[in-house]
Amino acid sequence: MSVQVVSAAAAAKVPEVELKDLSSSEAQPQLALSTAAVSAMAPAAGGGDPEAPAPAGERPPAPGPGSGPAAAALSPAAGKVPQASAMKRSDPHHQHQRHRDGGEALVSPDGTVTEAPRTVKKQIQFADQKQEFNKRPTKIGRRSLSRSISQSSTDSYSSAASYTDSSDDETSPRDKQQKNSKGSGDFCVKNIKQAEFGRREIEIAEQEMPALMALRKRAQGEKPLAGAKIVGCTHITAQTAVLMETLGALGAQCRWAACNIYSTLNEVAAALAESGFPVFAWKGESEDDFWWCIDRCVNVEGWQPNMILDDGGDLTHWIYKKYPNMFKKIKGIVEESVTGVHRLYQLSKAGKLCVPAMNVNDSVTKQKFDNLYCCRESILDGLKRTTDMMFGGKQVVVCGYGEVGKGCCAALKAMGSIVYVTEIDPICALQACMDGFRLVKLNEVIRQVDIVITCTGNKNVVTREHLDRMKNSCIVCNMGHSNTEIDVASLRTPELTWERVRSQVDHVIWPDGKRIVLLAEGRLLNLSCSTVPTFVLSITATTQALALIELYNAPEGRYKQDVYLLPKKMDEYVASLHLPTFDAHLTELTDEQAKYLGLNKNGPFKPNYYRY
Ligand code: NAD
Repeated sequence: MSVQVVSAAAAAKVPEVELKDLSSSEAQPQLALSTAAVSAMAPAAGGGDPEAPAPAGERPPAPGPGSGPAAAALSPAAGKVPQASAMKRSDPHHQHQRHRDGGEALVSPDGTVTEAPRTVKKQIQFADQKQEFNKRPTKIGRRSLSRSISQSSTDSYSSAASYTDSSDDETSPRDKQQKNSKGSGDFCVKNIKQAEFGRREIEIAEQEMPALMALRKRAQGEKPLAGAKIVGCTHITAQTAVLMETLGALGAQCRWAACNIYSTLNEVAAALAESGFPVFAWKGESEDDFWWCIDRCVNVEGWQPNMILDDGGDLTHWIYKKYPNMFKKIKGIVEESVTGVHRLYQLSKAGKLCVPAMNVNDSVTKQKFDNLYCCRESILDGLKRTTDMMFGGKQVVVCGYGEVGKGCCAALKAMGSIVYVTEIDPICALQACMDGFRLVKLNEVIRQVDIVITCTGNKNVVTREHLDRMKNSCIVCNMGHSNTEIDVASLRTPELTWERVRSQVDHVIWPDGKRIVLLAEGRLLNLSCSTVPTFVLSITATTQALALIELYNAPEGRYKQDVYLLPKKMDEYVASLHLPTFDAHLTELTDEQAKYLGLNKNGPFKPNYYRY
């Protein structure tokens, strides 16, 4: 089947969405949140029926067909649907370090570790041996839950410079009586007095989140989320704050908890609370605190959520478990994470999903930016911050040449590193060759390389045998989702000495004195040790906002009790909203060209199977 035929078919079904003004080079994208578009939220801008959204079902991450009403709602001219995907990152490391080092002066009170005396050798005490989750009496009871806190809730996430925890105040926020300047006490944050610092962080983030700012401008006249009561559970960072304040500007009421016990920027949470957002989150929550905060968001006198924005599925899980009746009023769930999406698919498969859900994790823009471009930038950041290394001339082996691997390889090659690639898939392997990388087996280069980076999504890619054979000072790190890519567990044996030298940096020392440099204990390097570019988060957050609008405004019956992918048109729309940042000038199809290609002039421009 030719592309032309497929595209034509798609074009026939897809509602008209005018992206012209968005793609123009003019300063701000003009989002025409026309009343009609908003109220209809129908994707069909040209008056046609919206393309029926297709449940994502069990499909693996891929842009799904269908067009949403959300797209239509926010379309610059008529309506269009966007989608959003959040980011979730986590990082328990700061806390871990504090415990791990048994109170030695390697970690500052705020969890920041700098230098530690290298002469001090001691047997490592692992985080899980010392970590105490429940310092407070447990009301809910850690074991009373049918499942434990999600992995994403305890993974690490590091963000930009934080003023957080500069005091030694160990009082639990739950024990404090705090009010914002308007007298409201409907929040629970570490210290409301940090609001001013947080506001500055939010203002910085706004500079790199052009699409959300554009949505806000448009929302001055239109409130596509008027009446929406959104309960959210995401990382609470400056970028999330920009999203929340955008949702507020679009008419929504929000209550928010953190999806991760370590990732909250306290000053940002304070700034949000000061602005009137009921936020329940602080850095270093216990697990009991974590669920308490979620409960405070949903269990409120006189307020009931009608939309869920989740990252990891814990909030959704909590409502299912504790307040199932709430789903009668909930119009939809927007989920960003792989984990959360997986849970939704499981619920759907079991016939237990009782509202429509949007999988924003798998939208094209999110995947490309989160995996390829984000990693291209953050691999260098993570390595540099932890090791101060120079990349030029270093020999690096990157395991896996998927999106993440491609980003890592491109960045290191550009810095003058000599890059080797390992792959199991001949197609990706051939791509690596065509891009100028030597394809090798790990065994062949393990003795000579200076850096080993895993990004396969697989397990035991770097084994103890590999670790034994590495040369002295070899740096080992992981960019994949799971911390099982490197067999770190095999290093926790009595003959090896662990030396914490910096935050997220361990020297593992062999009896003969050889040491390897293990970063972030094999967890995601960039999310543990560097920042994620705000622009990447902007794309995700915009997709989330659009998915919320889509679900909230969708006419009855458009979405069933299933998991949906956002329409490609929304992806294109999200991308369009970010183009003005670069003064990018998008070419428009002529009528003749559109006819020739069988496309609608306003998109979508690619069939759903297109791989980009
Ligand atoms: P991908 O599937 O595109 O690429 C992974 C590649 O690894 C594939 O080409 C696969 O063939 C290869 N591979 C699998 N097992 C291998 C092995 N034993 N040796 C060598 N190669 C092997 O996935 P991706 O989008 O590149 O993501 C990779 C991982 O990174 C995933 O776990 C993903 O969740 C994670 N991820 C991390 C970030 C981040 O910010 N660090 C961002 C997005 C995704």
